[in-house]
Amino acid sequence: MKLEENKSLKDYLTMRLGGKARYFAEIQTKDDVVEAFQFAAAHQLKTFVIGGGSNTLADDEGFDGLVMHMCLKGRTILEDNADDIVIRYGAGEILDEVISESVDMHLTGIEAMSLIPGTIGAAPVQNVGAYGQDISQSFVELEAYDMHTRAFVTLSKEDCQFAYRASIFRGKDWGRYIIVSVTLRLQKGNPQPPFYKQVQARLDEKGITSYTPALIRETVIEIRKWKLPDPHYIPNSGSFFKNAIITKQKLAHLQEKYPTLKGFAMGNDTFKISTGWLIDQAGLKGASMYGMRVHDRNALVLTNVGAKSYHALAKAREDIIAEVNKQFGIKIVQEVLEMH
Ligand SMILES: Cc1cc2nc3c(=O)[nH]c(=O)nc-3n(C[C@H](O)[C@H](O)[C@H](O)COP(=O)(O)OP(=O)(O)OC[C@H]3O[C@@H](n4cnc5c(N)ncnc54)[C@H](O)[C@@H]3O)c2cc1C
Repeated sequence: MKLEENKSLKDYLTMRLGGKARYFAEIQTKDDVVEAFQFAAAHQLKTFVIGGGSNTLADDEGFDGLVMHMCLKGRTILEDNADDIVIRYGAGEILDEVISESVDMHLTGIEAMSLIPGTIGAAPVQNVGAYGQDISQSFVELEAYDMHTRAFVTLSKEDCQFAYRASIFRGKDWGRYIIVSVTLRLQKGNPQPPFYKQVQARLDEKGITSYTPALIRETVIEIRKWKLPDPHYIPNSGSFFKNAIITKQKLAHLQEKYPTLKGFAMGNDTFKISTGWLIDQAGLKGASMYGMRVHDRNALVLTNVGAKSYHALAKAREDIIAEVNKQFGIKIVQEVLEMH
């Protein structure tokens, strides 16, 4: 295991902000996981695992503990059946490379998630998804090191309790597991319509009626490249805020002024509305503050266009939350995870 001290975290987080990790370990093997955990336990250090750092922020103080950078690679075909293939991936494999390879193999199941940054090991954490697919749909099981029982365990789909952008790893078991591999079942052949509205519209525009995984990937990449800033060139963490959950009365009140506003029923008389829309209506789309900028094509995305510190991001975040609250009486909440 490669262990370093006082390692700058900003190079490992796509927002390119944040202080230093007191200790930083590159995890290449399962033995490295155990060694890193034992080191942390022996020195009473808190731990945090990162993959691609595309959904994580560190503040200017950094992390006073051990950061484990998941780099464990590898893929193994476990089953090759008439209709599907079961593949186990090392948690440090890059999700988009896994998708690209699956498309080359003419497999369907994850192609609509093309271009989502990060590692496959992080994909179960928030049940990543886009354009009608999420990882839970292809998920078979994962292997993880359980820091409570100090043993490797296999967790099934039921164990992970996947929901919309949620699982036990973001919820009740936050910080407990180090995921070392993820196993997926991918179908042979072509994806079947109906596709997600925007994807279908684009396919129709091009007059495509015969669908392949490669065509869906290509279409999704075109849409995403237009809509989302590439974190390699413009630092960002994707959707910065969660969509807002409001009451039925609040929705009815808003719809009086904005009749086209859509609310999605979430149960218990609550409705989900687009936070991107709220930020846009608050006049903040494209707004710059403290070196941060609300993306001009997607108001849910906050980009770093020259911020010097996490403190600057925090001030921009406060201003956005306050302005939306002032105009709509809705307190929006951050989606991106914090290293703590
Ligand atoms: C431009 C952009 C677009 C995006 N679009 C989407 C989208 O369409 N849909 C979507 O769902 N997300 C999207 N995201 C968010 C992000 O890509 C996903 O959340 C992704 O899964 C994060 O992967 P990562 O490896 O970068 O995770 P990190 O940011 O490194 O980690 C995220 C969380 O997972 C935990 N974690 C990471 N690896 C492990 C592991 N091996 N074991 C245990 N815990 C682990 C971390 O501790 C942290 O809590 C986008 C982000 C960006 C920047």
